[in-house]
Amino acid sequence: MLIDTYGRVATDLRVSLTDRCNLRCTYCMPEEGLQWLAKPDLLTDDEIVRLIGIAVTHLGIEEVRFTGGEPLLRPGLPGIVERVAALAPRPQMSLTTNGIGLKRTAAALKAAGLDRVNVSLDTLRPDVFKTLTRRDRHKDVIEGLEAAHAAGLTPVKINSVLMPGLNADEAPDLLAWAVEHDYELRFIEQMPLDAQHGWKRDGMVTAGDILTSLRTRFRLTDEGAGERGSAPAERWIVDGGPHRVGVIASVTRPFCAACDRTRLTADGQVRTCLFATEETDLRGALRSDVPDEEIAGIWRTAMWGKKAGAGLDDPSFVQPDRPMSAIGG
Ligand code: SAM
Ligand code: SF4
Repeated sequence: MLIDTYGRVATDLRVSLTDRCNLRCTYCMPEEGLQWLAKPDLLTDDEIVRLIGIAVTHLGIEEVRFTGGEPLLRPGLPGIVERVAALAPRPQMSLTTNGIGLKRTAAALKAAGLDRVNVSLDTLRPDVFKTLTRRDRHKDVIEGLEAAHAAGLTPVKINSVLMPGLNADEAPDLLAWAVEHDYELRFIEQMPLDAQHGWKRDGMVTAGDILTSLRTRFRLTDEGAGERGSAPAERWIVDGGPHRVGVIASVTRPFCAACDRTRLTADGQVRTCLFATEETDLRGALRSDVPDEEIAGIWRTAMWGKKAGAGLDDPSFVQPDRPMSAIGG
């Protein structure tokens, strides 16, 4: 098991497949100038599958989520999914994507064994999308969502980040649209993980703001404290059900005490937390013929040292050097 000194057990592995992306969301990446990871440093498909195998068979990982950067930019993704689906025990597999490549890949990913997708979409307005992501690709995301739903990668979840002066007024429209299309919407508070280090706490839309805005149009019923478990989203039943909406209040109501995640970057570093400032290298061990059991031991030791919380409220908080796109969101 991947247990830490606070008794938390990590069963959910986030794997970043690349730090590259075809969008440039302002809360994640700068317009230009971000240094990519060097190709020789990136894990190969075989190395990724081996590490996931170690996590599943030696360390109790039950759920694997592929992310990035944009994971659909990795050509080997369907093959990786297929090989992970053949592991015993077979983990649940999902993908966090900006949705642009889904129209082309959803059916093949489903056939390879992917269970679900989370698609990031912050706005229903193509012009706002273009400002927010610095690319004119709104239509591709909408078509990607439709393809994922049609392929049965369900429930299709949507992640939305709201930003003042851009899309902060869109919460009710996004929810009405998600309900209409049978997508499960979750709002994520903007976190200090932008490459430009421009995040300001007083410049963010809080979970409280989002709920106030949603309640102008919907009746939201608390799903009940017991339902949240280790899930970061607090969920509300919309207008009596069956649809729900989630709010991930990473900043104003952090869920660190129930965290069950471990992370692997595209260059083979274990991170205990999105906000960790230290990493543990597994790539070196992989490439030095270290046996699986020993690699599992290095991973266990890394997770044992996981901090109690992200420390956003701590005056000594330091934003990690890597931006969200290179950590894997
Ligand atoms: N490219 C894929 C995507 O956008 O879904 C996967 C990687 S992205 C880093 C994963 C998630 O992190 C997205 O839902 C994105 O909106 C979110 N994200 C990125 N930067 C963020 C930030 N500073 N605060 C909160 N969420 C952020
Ligand atoms: Fe790319 Fe996702 Fe970051 Fe947007 S949030 S720039 S889509 S990695």
